[in-house]
Amino acid sequence: MSSELLNENKELRRRLQALMTHARNNEHIMYRQQVLELRIIGVSGLRELLHEVLCYYKKAADLDNVTLVLVDPEYEIQRMLSHLDVVPGTFPGLCFLENDASFYPLFDGGFQPVLGLYRPETHGGLFAAPVGLHSVALLPLVRNQQLIGALSLGSISKGRFISGMATDFIARLGAIVAICLENVINSERLKHMGLTDPLTGIRNRRYFENRLPEEVARTQRYRHSLACLFLDVDYFKRINDAHGHQNGDIVLREVAGRIQGELRGADCLVRYGGEEFAILLAQVDETEAVATAERIRQVIAEQPFSLENGIDISVTLSVGVSILRDWQEIADLTVAAHRLVEVADQALYRAKAGGRNQVVDAGDLSNAVTYPFAG
Ligand code: GH3
Ligand code: MG
Ligand code: MG
Repeated sequence: MSSELLNENKELRRRLQALMTHARNNEHIMYRQQVLELRIIGVSGLRELLHEVLCYYKKAADLDNVTLVLVDPEYEIQRMLSHLDVVPGTFPGLCFLENDASFYPLFDGGFQPVLGLYRPETHGGLFAAPVGLHSVALLPLVRNQQLIGALSLGSISKGRFISGMATDFIARLGAIVAICLENVINSERLKHMGLTDPLTGIRNRRYFENRLPEEVARTQRYRHSLACLFLDVDYFKRINDAHGHQNGDIVLREVAGRIQGELRGADCLVRYGGEEFAILLAQVDETEAVATAERIRQVIAEQPFSLENGIDISVTLSVGVSILRDWQEIADLTVAAHRLVEVADQALYRAKAGGRNQVVDAGDLSNAVTYPFAG
């Protein structure tokens, strides 16, 4: 073979090799992207989704900045996160806006991803701490033709995102994140509705029943004490009878609000049923628990309630207190949880029998005596 042909052959082999390497690289990137997308699709909650996108994806895709801006006009998502104990700052790449006005123009005309050099004056609002960024990919998150947010990917390398680059990968990621976000927000909403009392907006009995065993277990693990308060509005039926059911509802809402105002953030207040409320106070001793109960009794009894018909009425409630002390050995968590409630309920019954508008402290579970159930 002539040397010319040999050289040509060599060059062709080199080019083929380069093409194959390129194809293998692409295949690898595609595979990696697919794995990341599957992880995002597989999440079951909002916190998990935020972690996947803002922490895991950022690291796995070797990005310098990943910011998720969510449109949250009624602060619903932010409230959801606070219920999930996600404090502000947990995800530095998470921001909220009341509306999409500041980034809508970027995606105007088809909600397509925008790739290219980083321009602080235009893109700055879509990144948390955009230090040293050179190229960016901005992904609109769209559901039902509405922008629900934006996912912004940033790199310190100028060549990472180039204007005119194929955007199908990136567009698919945006679509997946948008669907998953909508999905987890809906499911958190449902979960929240199932655990919330619609009349007063506080938690309901189902929430209490989930939370009680957790608190009892924590009490034992950390050797804290746990107080349980049962509260029942006195002669509530008379309020309904005299002023109507709607005014009764107003009173219940106001009672819940006033009680909540006397509690700390970590305390758990629920509407247990009808005109009954229950409270769990963690890490308080018996004196503090009784003092809290007394404060609540006063804040209800000492200020009149204004009804829809312009009439002011006085309302009182009775409170039963029980306590699980830090030194108490708990043989069976379920039994202890059940007894804590039972003993508080018995104390409430005594408060009613003793004349209402009062607090009765049953003390710890070993002091409890069996009383007939309050009817
Ligand atoms: P006591 O001092 O013994 O607790 O007397 P009471 O009248 O408060 O207790 P009773 O159990 O006889 O009546 C409770 C009333 O609460 C009866 C029920 O119609 C009313 N109720 C329960 N749920 C609601 C509600 O959501 N809204 C209104 N307006 N009333 C309610
Ligand atoms: Mg009552
Ligand atoms: Mg009652």
